[in-house]
Amino acid sequence: MKTPKFTYHAPRTVAEALDVLAEHSTDAKVLAGGQSLVPVMAMRLASPAHLVDINRLTDELSALEVDDAGVRIGALVRHARLERDEAAAASVPLVGQALRHVAHPTIRNRGTTVGSLAHADPSAEMPTVLALLGGHVVARSVRGERTIDAADFFVGPMESCLGYDELAVAAYFPAPPGRFGTAFDEICRRHGDYAMCGAGVVAVLDEAEQYVSLKLSLVSVNDVPEVLDLTEVVRGTAYDEVDHAVLGDWVRDRIDPPGDLHASADFRRHLASVLTKRLTREAAARAITTTEGARA
Ligand SMILES: Cc1cc2nc3c(=O)[nH]c(=O)nc-3n(C[C@H](O)[C@H](O)[C@H](O)COP(=O)(O)OP(=O)(O)OC[C@H]3O[C@@H](n4cnc5c(N)ncnc54)[C@H](O)[C@@H]3O)c2cc1C
Repeated sequence: MKTPKFTYHAPRTVAEALDVLAEHSTDAKVLAGGQSLVPVMAMRLASPAHLVDINRLTDELSALEVDDAGVRIGALVRHARLERDEAAAASVPLVGQALRHVAHPTIRNRGTTVGSLAHADPSAEMPTVLALLGGHVVARSVRGERTIDAADFFVGPMESCLGYDELAVAAYFPAPPGRFGTAFDEICRRHGDYAMCGAGVVAVLDEAEQYVSLKLSLVSVNDVPEVLDLTEVVRGTAYDEVDHAVLGDWVRDRIDPPGDLHASADFRRHLASVLTKRLTREAAARAITTTEGARA
């Protein structure tokens, strides 16, 4: 199916793009990788009168900056570039661990990570990762610039708090503190599909290999990413003395996932429990045995 008609804008600077967004506001949409927007338009689920293509703004929106504290990406950093960046993988391993589950390589070559955040799909991996790490999005409009914490950014399924005239110019994924390990996995019907259920975990241990904190966030379970804090269940316990089955049960009893064509609510609860058991063990082991933990 073809998209409805629209006026195409190809600004040469971010300032020009912001002017177009301000002028057309509710009638305009930003076009980044087009991997979500174009199918949505082709299915007539959206019909913006104006598309503001940001793909020429490489000078201003393509930066990928990494240090020990975290990873900052411009709006034109494609999933594939971020996934392959070794410095980003060393600083915030969870980003790469999750990105390899986003769609297929061809889609990751074109789709942008900031675009995925702006799209705010509850079945997408990167909103969950941003929430779990406590990251933020930087938004700009003709009215100025603001930094939006992940906890405030996602307001509903396919809905962020971005104003109609705002461009998300960057996102920041902070590294967890101290001696940490992370893990991400998901269960799909076919490789590359959206997950029936996915999970990311961040475990922080102390010198005695006891838990300092343990957090988890799920994919395809909540309307907006929710961070579950399991710290109280494990604090002060050595990582190899934790009963991971108990953690799986803890998570299963605290979630209220939707049921749909792909998985019933009960099945999603079961998958969340299985992923919790496996990934909490994996993340803690990484805090002990890999460079993630050794950086502390
Ligand atoms: C077959 C298929 C399978 C997929 N599977 C997955 C999957 O498993 N997991 C997953 O997470 N994603 C999946 N995707 C989506 C893909 O990851 C997209 O790349 C991503 O969701 C959006 O990035 P984009 O750059 O293509 O954004 P676009 O499609 O260009 O835009 C998406 C939305 O975000 C807005 N937007 C984009 N950039 C900005 C910005 N800088 N500022 C303000 N608004 C902005 C647009 O206006 C639009 O509303 C899949 C896509 C396809 C086609």
